[in-house]
Amino acid sequence: MHELTLLYGVAQKVEQVVKENDLDHVDAIVIEVGEATSVIPEFLQDGYEVISDDYDFLRGSELIIERITAVGRCRNCGTEFPIVVNKGLCPECGSFDKDIIEGAGFFIKEVRIFERPEG
Ligand SMILES: [Zn+2]
Repeated sequence: MHELTLLYGVAQKVEQVVKENDLDHVDAIVIEVGEATSVIPEFLQDGYEVISDDYDFLRGSELIIERITAVGRCRNCGTEFPIVVNKGLCPECGSFDKDIIEGAGFFIKEVRIFERPEG
C-alpha cells in the first residue's frame, strides 16, 4: 500500500527529529496532504495505527491530517481556481489544460510534543 510507504518515510523523518532533540516520544504528527495527490487520508489513518506500533517514540501518538485544497492555473486564460469543485475544468473558459500550483504535495507540517510535569 502506497500510504504505508509514505508513513514509514514520515516515521523516519520524525525519528531524526526525536534523536536531534533528545526526545523519547512524540504526541502527534501533523501532515498536510494535497487534494491533487493520490493519497487517501483514511488509508493513512488506518496505516498509522499499524506503523505507530513499530516505533517506540510513536506509540500512542496521533496522526492529524490536514487537507490542502488543490489549486490549478489555467494554461489557456491564466485563471486560478480550486480544482476539485470545478471538476478539473477552468470556470472561465472551460479548458482542462492547467498547471497544479497548490495541493500536489505531502508534507510533515508539525511534530507535537506536549509538556509533561517533571518526574
Ligand atoms: Zn481558462
